[in-house]
Amino acid sequence: MDPCIFCKIVNKEIPSEIVFENEKTVVIKDIHPQARVHLLAIPKKHIECINDIDDSFSEDLLAIHLAIKEAASIANVVDTGYRVISNCGSGAGQTVMHLHYHIMADKGIGEKLI
Ligand code: AMP
Ligand code: ZN
Repeated sequence: MDPCIFCKIVNKEIPSEIVFENEKTVVIKDIHPQARVHLLAIPKKHIECINDIDDSFSEDLLAIHLAIKEAASIANVVDTGYRVISNCGSGAGQTVMHLHYHIMADKGIGEKLI
């Protein structure tokens, strides 16, 4: 079975606009932005959604949060504020079944920042 689209992005098998990367996470620009800043923080390890998190994922979760913080800083929205959203399950609107966190911000200074 083909790996999922975010696994392909993580493995650089398909292109994406990478904003930040650490050992366990990649942050990319969403291909269909729904906000002035719309990024996706994606763990390199494939799990479907929050329902599948267990203790073995603790280091990955820290890495994701550090990556989100760094991406917010790169996007210059740390002071103006940003939202972090993770859809879990198709009933919640999840369309890519690989855990990811939307980082979204509409406020900010100037034109499109990132
Ligand atoms: P969700 O609906 O929560 O599963 O979010 C999936 C998100 O992935 C959507 O906002 C899509 O626009 C985005 N997306 C899908 N394919 C790509 C891609 N190849 N590169 C960047 N973002 C993507
Ligand atoms: Zn995957």
